[in-house]
Amino acid sequence: MQVFKFGGASVKDADSVRNVAGILKNYKDQSLVIVISAMGKTTNALEEVVEAHMQQTGKAGELLEAIKERHLALMHDLFDPGDDVFSEVNDTFVEAEWVLDESPSDSYDYTYDQIVCVGELVSTRIVAAYLNKIGLPTHWLDARDVIITDNTFREGWVQWDKTKPNAVKIVQPLLEKGGYVLTQGFIGSTTENFTTTLGREGSDYSAAIFSFALDAESMSIWKDVPGVLNADPRLFEHTIKLDRLSYREAIEMTYYGAQVIHPKTIKPLQNKSIPLYVKSFLDPKAPGTEISSDTEDTYPPIIVVEKNQSLLHIVTTDYSFVAEQHLARLFTELASLRIFVNMMQNTAISFSICVPNVPDRLEAFKKVVADEFRVKQEDGLELITIRHFNDETVASLKKGKVVLFEERIRNTLQMVVRNVPVVERRTVELERAKG
Ligand code: ASP
Ligand code: MG
Repeated sequence: MQVFKFGGASVKDADSVRNVAGILKNYKDQSLVIVISAMGKTTNALEEVVEAHMQQTGKAGELLEAIKERHLALMHDLFDPGDDVFSEVNDTFVEAEWVLDESPSDSYDYTYDQIVCVGELVSTRIVAAYLNKIGLPTHWLDARDVIITDNTFREGWVQWDKTKPNAVKIVQPLLEKGGYVLTQGFIGSTTENFTTTLGREGSDYSAAIFSFALDAESMSIWKDVPGVLNADPRLFEHTIKLDRLSYREAIEMTYYGAQVIHPKTIKPLQNKSIPLYVKSFLDPKAPGTEISSDTEDTYPPIIVVEKNQSLLHIVTTDYSFVAEQHLARLFTELASLRIFVNMMQNTAISFSICVPNVPDRLEAFKKVVADEFRVKQEDGLELITIRHFNDETVASLKKGKVVLFEERIRNTLQMVVRNVPVVERRTVELERAKG
């Protein structure tokens, strides 16, 4: 059996849903688990509902209503007014309305998961109903019955010892009955039946969890790009599609922030040698990118740009050397605040780190280390990582930039640069750099 994942962009409107159904028609009578994200930018919109509810601005209900209206409009395009899907979707929204009726819980992250899960619950209701309507029998599955996590809300850690047997017990029999199994990405459940989410863009990871647990032959992610490219096409003009990548190269790319695949996706697939295909839902016959095995190809320069970075210059207040015990303390505080260090460098009495700019967590960090360290913060930076770099690519990426620090380790070069906001698209001669 195979696992397919369709992201938000692939189901953003009624025509997109029809397009997905058109792709799935080609797999009729095959054993397929289909994982779907929330439609379009629904998750962002639901995050605003959460924010409004937590701040008690009085706007949460309206914002949720607008999301519901958008879904209903799309459904009117796909279904007859009497279709059962209307009451299914309505019931799901009612559950979110109940959360809004209560006063906000102390835990932001807990509340977030109880509200944001609605996006995936309704998108899957809609797509499953549509597939059934056009004669592609489909079982709707609640992913929360299968994927069990700990109670780290917004970043649930999968409990494999429970998730694996659940998948076999629940999904296998559905597949044996015939028809597709269609379920939500991004969401899971604690053992006490509270909804959790797996981290933004986590639907890829959900698909990998199902692939691993059910020993899939392969997994495919259907996207609006032809495959994995060597740079983000929104930032660079001449990108190259990579035909094949090793698991290792894919893990490295996603670790450095390439957004094409969720970083947790590769490991479960690699552990069972399940190939991953990244394909275009706009050109479904095209081969896309295959991620498999550890055989290395030669790669062109692969560029990952992470925006909105900050540099923290950390200095000991008493001019003592930044020694192991200082680093141990700093890293403990960083880890407990979930601040991820992208790059670091030190001198005798200072230590600099490049981190994503998450204002409240960085403020909390500065406060908690203030007894021993002074921290200077510089915002608005970009972290550029180039794997398989060559001089030409590096030079062209540095053009018009101030490089604050730079590091080369084997085939990876990283640099923190000052953002030049007016330059939105850069023409990098990747094509020539390939050779
Ligand atoms: N809908 C979720 C998000 O936008 C999960 C996903 O798309 O993978 O983050
Ligand atoms: Mg998404």
